[in-house]
Amino acid sequence: MNDIRQLVIEALSIRGYIPIFDLDLKLEKDKNTSMFYEGNIKIEDNVIKFLLDFSNLSLLDFPNVYFLEETVNFLKNKYIHIQEPIPHLRKEKSLYKDSYLYSICYQLHNSNTVPRDNIFLILDIVEKHLHDFLNKIIHKDLFLNEYVVDFGGSVISLINLNEKFENWFMSKYKGGWYFFECDYKNCRLNLNLKIKREVFEVNHSSTPDFSYLIREDKVSIKDFQEFIKRWDILSYKKFMSFLKTPSFSKEFVFIWKGMTLAGYFKWERNTDKSLNSSKNKHLRDENVYFVNTQILDFKKNVLRNLPDESSQGLLQKKVLLVGLGAIGGYMAEALVKLGAGIESDFVLVDKDILEADNIGRHLLGFQFCGNFKSLALISYLQSNSFFQLTKIRSEIKDISSFNNSFFENENFDLIIDATGSIEVQEYLNEMIQSLSKETRPILQHLWVFGNGECVQALWVDPEIQTARGGCISCLGSSSKGLHQELLPVQNLLPEQRTGVCSAFTPYAVSGGMMAASLGINMILEWLQTGKVVNNYQTRYSSIDIKDKIQDITLTRHKECRFCGEIKQ
Ligand SMILES: [Zn+2]
Repeated sequence: MNDIRQLVIEALSIRGYIPIFDLDLKLEKDKNTSMFYEGNIKIEDNVIKFLLDFSNLSLLDFPNVYFLEETVNFLKNKYIHIQEPIPHLRKEKSLYKDSYLYSICYQLHNSNTVPRDNIFLILDIVEKHLHDFLNKIIHKDLFLNEYVVDFGGSVISLINLNEKFENWFMSKYKGGWYFFECDYKNCRLNLNLKIKREVFEVNHSSTPDFSYLIREDKVSIKDFQEFIKRWDILSYKKFMSFLKTPSFSKEFVFIWKGMTLAGYFKWERNTDKSLNSSKNKHLRDENVYFVNTQILDFKKNVLRNLPDESSQGLLQKKVLLVGLGAIGGYMAEALVKLGAGIESDFVLVDKDILEADNIGRHLLGFQFCGNFKSLALISYLQSNSFFQLTKIRSEIKDISSFNNSFFENENFDLIIDATGSIEVQEYLNEMIQSLSKETRPILQHLWVFGNGECVQALWVDPEIQTARGGCISCLGSSSKGLHQELLPVQNLLPEQRTGVCSAFTPYAVSGGMMAASLGINMILEWLQTGKVVNNYQTRYSSIDIKDKIQDITLTRHKECRFCGEIKQ
């Protein structure tokens, strides 16, 4: 660390930066080490002073950059269009020689990597961004445009005027906007239909102009009204009728292009008198307080992570997941993160209760013990997806209670068998094979082999299977185990070939996770290309296995009672 410190000091000195005495600084958060430097930047005929904070010598981020309040005032006086909030500039509670510091969020503009081994390059990047920033500020058109470009940044400046920081969470629910109640102590988010806040949806083409909104570090209702009037006339009219009724706390949210501007104010209006009467006049001088607000949208969360080729993920697919144990728990979570259960049915089948013994390799923890695995998982998945899985449901039944007419009526696109049980694998295969080719869903089997030496997956697509064969019975059977040539681990005794049986088998948590990730990768291949080329795949753990088998396209086996008759 000392080496870096020395390099930074040398570079700053060569570039003409001047160190600042600790005693002149009053920082909001006490820092053990402060390394503040003063520098100058020229723009047009101005020389603008700024501070660089190099206290964090890990150099994982660019150094913080500050302006002094006197510099901000100088700019405001010289360029009268500059009004607070100034885009990308945030007033801090820290002081230098009794002048407030304004931090510059210049990093918002770039996705630059910090060149940690070249301090001069770091300074070049910082100086260039400062220059770009000042250029945008001193030119009126560019300045006003930044309110549009950095709407969120301007809102943050407003939120920072408050003493306390508040968070609201909202989402669209059954066509309307609803709010969550946030229990920070227990890390819980609950949809609370009783919270009433007025939501204004502002026309996308309306342009916000935050100038003249903040006066003396405050926003009055009067100035806020003016701001809305300039922003969007329809919202303004709605806002005026919102002001007709008195309220101890009027709470509002403006939504513009998916971003929010939210807050509250007191409005103890005398409804017998007009707004301009002496009884009511003072109201408009009250302060508006702003709140950080986030729109929760799980579908959007899912879609942003998906590659273009599978951009809709599982949104339009009906999915059945059988078995919610060590593989199925991770599988359920991952399927939801591919979009299952948001717009199309996602059915979880398991009849077991989560026991304390399961915790060692299950997705869920002890707080869910004593509940049916399916219900516990749904509760876990719902709260992690803002309660937006409207199509998820459970079937707490033995798989044998589902007959072929169930599969025929439900018309699933994809059935995932995560039981790791050869008996269930065979049973599901029998049910699916009895359906006509047109109504047959894709069937995926996932299992952990032996004691976790490897995990395997078989993808049975009816299109391909009816032509070339390849189903779980082509791999082997519950009586004989896997066929020798298809065994992922050679030289096993016949009784070891059955894979994981329904009784408990010891293998580490990685087995369940790896089987789930293999399963998910196959599903992604299917979503992206419409098929899975290697339908029989194996992933080995790090244990040294001789004669590993490759991923292959499994075709008919002569002994398979379903595919054996197919002529190639
Ligand atoms: Zn077969």
